[in-house]
Amino acid sequence: MNAPSSVTALIVAAGRGMRAGGDIPKQYQLVAGIPVLARTVEAFLAHPAVSDVQVVIGAEDQGAYEAAVAQKSRMRPSVVGQDSRQGSVLAGLRVLSSNAPDRVLIHDGARPFANAALIDRVIAALQHSDAVVPTLPVSSTIKAVDGEGQVGATIPRDGLHAAETPQGFRFPVILAAHEKAARSGLQFTDDAAVAEWAGVPVRSVPGEPGNIKLTTAGDIAMADRRMTMEAMLGLGDIRIGHGYDVHAFGSGTFVTLGGVVIPHDAGLVGHSDADVALHALTDAIFGALADGDIGAHFPPSDPQWKGAPSDRFLADAVRRVSDRGGIVAHLDVSILAEAPRIGPHRDAMRQRIAAICGIDIDRVGVKATTNEGLGFVGRCEGIAAHAAATIRLPFGAKA
Ligand code: MG
Repeated sequence: MNAPSSVTALIVAAGRGMRAGGDIPKQYQLVAGIPVLARTVEAFLAHPAVSDVQVVIGAEDQGAYEAAVAQKSRMRPSVVGQDSRQGSVLAGLRVLSSNAPDRVLIHDGARPFANAALIDRVIAALQHSDAVVPTLPVSSTIKAVDGEGQVGATIPRDGLHAAETPQGFRFPVILAAHEKAARSGLQFTDDAAVAEWAGVPVRSVPGEPGNIKLTTAGDIAMADRRMTMEAMLGLGDIRIGHGYDVHAFGSGTFVTLGGVVIPHDAGLVGHSDADVALHALTDAIFGALADGDIGAHFPPSDPQWKGAPSDRFLADAVRRVSDRGGIVAHLDVSILAEAPRIGPHRDAMRQRIAAICGIDIDRVGVKATTNEGLGFVGRCEGIAAHAAATIRLPFGAKA
């Protein structure tokens, strides 16, 4: 037995959810880059009163589940559900019974917006009740409509509430109610209804208007906009940094530019691999962070950077952005060289830079120009690069 105070979240995600469109069930579709189910699970793992999380999944979804959720901590091994939601909940309750929690919060996998205050209310009400359901009064006028679209009646909405999840229960009480319902063959649309049918008094607490169940493609798109907007508002400190670098030609048979090796009749002289494009980009990010420069972070006097591939420098700058909770929004580099020709390698460089930084290729610009024969670049004495980096940080993030 777990400690008497233990609370397990039982998340039901076995449905196919194909009303939302797409090739994968809605609970695995991405909302602002993160699968719906991962967001749902995280809402419970982040709550201090929740001991662990049990997810009930579809038999075909093992791979999607592993990729989205399984590596998080405090997860019980997933269990495969049934065709009906009620059957899936019972499968989850049965597997929990071998190491039973004191209380269980049963929640829909497609409700990623359950917040801490809602979870608090359900758990608090379980102090005095065996069964708790969050509800909101119905604000729309309710019509009975037949299959032909004919309105039959207007149903008085006084006292009508819509039920949400998580619904909280004393574990032995809901397990017994579900076992009894399974024996009877009756199907209910939520777990509170199972408890009510079994004669368990069910207590209502206020739900949350934002705690919607994502059902249609429109719901998924709305959630994506909402979460993307919130993420962007949270990264409102937008900064642009500039970087410049130059390396001289020396003997050699290739140059490394933008992380790409280009055959040439000369090489570039430098302590590292002399990749001017990556050095300029690295300095642009350090500039946006107002955090020194490449020479300060990787001193040429330090032998460990001798001949070092410059992707290490760029990756380190990006890590400093994410350490402050930020993202690299865009990178742009201009390479100044009479030779070699850069154009044929432009997309390979964009791809390499995007991979080093963990961003999309459409957020990386690589441009090149000759210097029209003027100056040291024009005299083929070396290659120079200018770069700009746009980063987004949370306000108040400190180094
Ligand atoms: Mg350099």
